[in-house]
Amino acid sequence: MDFRELEERLVAFRDVRNWAKYHTPKNLAISAAVELGELLEHFQWGSDGEILEAVKDPAKREAIADEIADVVIYLTLLAHELDIDLDEAVERKLEKNGEKYPAKKY
Ligand SMILES: [Mg+2]
Repeated sequence: MDFRELEERLVAFRDVRNWAKYHTPKNLAISAAVELGELLEHFQWGSDGEILEAVKDPAKREAIADEIADVVIYLTLLAHELDIDLDEAVERKLEKNGEKYPAKKY
């Protein structure tokens, strides 16, 4: 699934529930940050090794995946509201990163 397909599915999901009225850019940006906080709760206080060990547990792994998905969902809806093409935006940013951090230099 590319970003365009994901966007279409998410917009259809929310429109059939009449949630578009809540999906202002500000609300979606806040919601993405809240979901990122929920993701960080899984990592709070744990060492890198403890976290990598914890995600071997399928339930824990799924809970973390759910939070990552929530962040992606809200950011995709935010891009939709701002009429930003995520496929283009990510491609363009990767090109910028490649110019800023050339592989030869690192
Ligand atoms: Mg969540």
